[in-house]
Amino acid sequence: MYILAHALRRIGIDTMYGLVGIPVTEMAYIAQGTGMRFISFRHEQQAGMAAAAHGFVTGKPGVFLTVSSLGFMNGLTSTANATVNCYPVIQISGSSVREPIDLEQGTYEGLDQLNVAKPVVKAAYRVNKAEDIPTAVVRAYRAAISGRPGGVYLDVTTPALAQIMDRAEAEKLFFDPVDVQPAIVPAPEAVDRALQLLSQAKKPAILIGKGAAQAQVEDLLKQLVEKTGVPFYPMSMAKGVLPDNHPLSALSVRSTIMEDADVVMLVGARLNWLLSRGHGKWNPDGKFIQLEIDPVEIDCNRPIAAPVVGDLRSSLEAMLAKIDNYKFQMDPAWVPGIQAESAVKNEKFKARLAVKTVPMTHWSALGAAKAVLEANPDVILVNEGANTLDDTRDSIDMFLPRHRIDCATWAIMGMGMGSAIGAAVATGKSVVAIEGDSAFGFSGMDFSTICRFKLPVTVCVFNNGGIYNGIGKTLYNTTDPAPTTLDINARYDKFGEAFGAKSYYVTTPDEFQAALAEAVASKAPAIIDVQLAADAGKESGHIGYLNPTPLIDITV
Ligand code: ADP
Ligand code: MG
Repeated sequence: MYILAHALRRIGIDTMYGLVGIPVTEMAYIAQGTGMRFISFRHEQQAGMAAAAHGFVTGKPGVFLTVSSLGFMNGLTSTANATVNCYPVIQISGSSVREPIDLEQGTYEGLDQLNVAKPVVKAAYRVNKAEDIPTAVVRAYRAAISGRPGGVYLDVTTPALAQIMDRAEAEKLFFDPVDVQPAIVPAPEAVDRALQLLSQAKKPAILIGKGAAQAQVEDLLKQLVEKTGVPFYPMSMAKGVLPDNHPLSALSVRSTIMEDADVVMLVGARLNWLLSRGHGKWNPDGKFIQLEIDPVEIDCNRPIAAPVVGDLRSSLEAMLAKIDNYKFQMDPAWVPGIQAESAVKNEKFKARLAVKTVPMTHWSALGAAKAVLEANPDVILVNEGANTLDDTRDSIDMFLPRHRIDCATWAIMGMGMGSAIGAAVATGKSVVAIEGDSAFGFSGMDFSTICRFKLPVTVCVFNNGGIYNGIGKTLYNTTDPAPTTLDINARYDKFGEAFGAKSYYVTTPDEFQAALAEAVASKAPAIIDVQLAADAGKESGHIGYLNPTPLIDITV
């Protein structure tokens, strides 16, 4: 265990998230002994979500520790989610002695964890001997961070954790790996091909994804956008890479970009489900440039006319170095058209948020939240839910990179408290989590972790009494609540009383605004029950088109 802790310290890990028990309890104490912070959770999934947020905001792997069997599997859900989202994460789990697992002899918490993890993570390694720990830690680190980042599983068996070594012998095992995140420089002809296409476009656009946020290339993107005058559209977690209110922001006119642009340059974004079907239709004659680190991603949904495979910093630098060789031929009416359409849409949207509806709808509540959050642009916003997610993303402008963390590519629920904790611990900044009442339920108990560690996190629970809303009707003969119904009268603010945090119950936009402003200013744990109307919100928010079938009456 000492070797593991020192190996992690040596490679620069200063924080470990986790939940202890046999066989890793001492590991957490020892980690603290090396000067690492150990942030202890109530549920392993949330420890993993914290590590993922840590990875996203810092660009360095977030590390978390789990016990064997169920604890491992609870944590694995977030390591899998990290892999899908390209967040650098290392899950370290204790596991039982090998022999009785392999012989299926029914050992304590016996599970072949390595093989359970393998299909859902970027890489998985098992260590059976203390001597191998330093190498295993370096390999896990490299796997998490190099190329396309992802979730890595490191299985440490009980004998390896328990093994005692001579200190001088152990010291010899450590080494400092060289160039753990090597630059991947794009081919010069790929850069020219991309510049050629972009410069000839009449209606070009740049689509920024969370890969760009993670790669920390806001300086280069700003140069590229401002030098070329090409408008940009940010994906959800790329909001703020360039400020949402930038004159070249096309945030409000997504369908115009999709339908009319003739060349779209993807920067750290994938053409996955979030950019197809119900999310809009691309111009059939449009062409794509894709700046991407993973060559396998290219062409996966649409043909890419100009792939630029490399890390974003190298690729953008290479493009900027050559940009003056190209003459841009953008249609002079393209940007003014986008700006005019944006102005009209933004005015309409502003009017919608200004109506102080009571009981509150998502919109009237968000009008209040917007005023506070936009006055505090350095607050990191964590956001999950269905309508709460969609409407918050549309309402709250972001001005700084890596300040928005949400359900991301899998559109999962249950990332809230963990992500808020990881973001607060990794940055020291204040965090506001805007949560649907259902979404909050998945991770709510880890509000107590926010309180124990006295983190500057304000949790706002948008309570409309259910999944999607609180007016689900049972269609068939049952006296049970509808599957979507939760509790419109639940008082989520009482969590504050239970764990010693500031708590507020608000029923009007003005009350919400005052409570949120006070909570954020306090830089202390706080929870706000934001009472919405039960009929606020619709089934599946903006993605109802993904529901496989409408309800029909089958009562017999
Ligand atoms: P979004 O949902 O915002 O579109 P995705 O997570 O779908 O973002 O896509 C991010 C893309 O960015 C992934 O394909 C990933 O491989 C890529 N990526 C991540 N980090 C880098 C980097 N440093 N350089 C280049 N591409 C990167
Ligand atoms: Mg709800």
